[in-house]
Amino acid sequence: MERNKTARPTPPPDLSASDPVNEGIIVAHHGVAVEVSFEDGRRRMVGVKRNSGHVVGDSVTVTGGVLKRMPRRTELRRRDARGGIHLVAANLDVLGIVVAHQSPAGFIDRAIVAARVAELQPFVVVNKCDLPDTPELLDLLKATYGGSVPFFAISAANRTGLQPLQDFLGQGHRGVFVGSSGVGKSSLLNALCPEIDLKVGQVSDYKNQGRHTTTVSTLHLLSGGGELVDTPGFREFGLVDITAEELAAHFPGFEEHADALCRFRNCRHRTEPGCAVIRLVEEGGIPPERYATYLEILSEVENDQSEARSKDWR
Ligand code: GDP
Ligand code: ZN
Repeated sequence: MERNKTARPTPPPDLSASDPVNEGIIVAHHGVAVEVSFEDGRRRMVGVKRNSGHVVGDSVTVTGGVLKRMPRRTELRRRDARGGIHLVAANLDVLGIVVAHQSPAGFIDRAIVAARVAELQPFVVVNKCDLPDTPELLDLLKATYGGSVPFFAISAANRTGLQPLQDFLGQGHRGVFVGSSGVGKSSLLNALCPEIDLKVGQVSDYKNQGRHTTTVSTLHLLSGGGELVDTPGFREFGLVDITAEELAAHFPGFEEHADALCRFRNCRHRTEPGCAVIRLVEEGGIPPERYATYLEILSEVENDQSEARSKDWR
């Protein structure tokens, strides 16, 4: 940008410059075209095949209208209503887990595990802190997760508590929010990036009012730094299922004892001899309630897994 400010004599025609390689990021996906934002701030639509596999957040080069994808740092996937698995976005750094008083039990734990499996840093956002029944929940959640992940208490409706969250995202993080329907993800996105203008309280009928077709997915730059991806399908359906092995390896609250090794590498910390987690629970290093929650979720995950397997056989 700076260099364009000073007037220069017109350079001699340079044939290579007529077909320059431009590096950019996919900031919107319209099915048969993607919008690419280039480093100098320009934006341009580039045609792609419908199932090209490009997603928002992909780093690309565009040469003469041809788009080439660069290797991805991270990939986040979701499961749709029929069990199909889709890529949500590429090169995300953080996953914001949004909860409110009505959030289902175990959601935060599963989401933290899923984020860690995808190599994204999870953080927790407790919304609706303006409601009278939230403080109690907040104390409990803070005690449980405050030591494991970045933790923010906000009210999207009243726009309070947003600054620490904006500062966190402003550290150059690219993120996306996940949370059950009604916790306030649309309200939060609206509060953080006003140009999105999402309809609050309308979960499944989101259509972009843009010039082209329905926008599936978009990436937004935040004024204080950082980027947020909005993917309506992801907001509705959420994360892919985690496996029992992933849960055992990444359950929040066990991580500070990661050096306490179990005898078996694939230990599920239930009845195995030489289990370091069971020993830590007995010694008081891991609270018994957390261990009970872990066992509950482990059973659920194991059931999900065996159900999925029997579906595959049918
Ligand atoms: P989403 O389904 O997660 O996208 O949730 P929405 O943003 O659509 O919000 C669901 C409902 O919760 C709407 O009625 C919002 O007005 C309400 N809501 C969102 N944020 C807050 C908040 O901070 N406080 C209160 N009291 N209500 C909120
Ligand atoms: Zn173990």
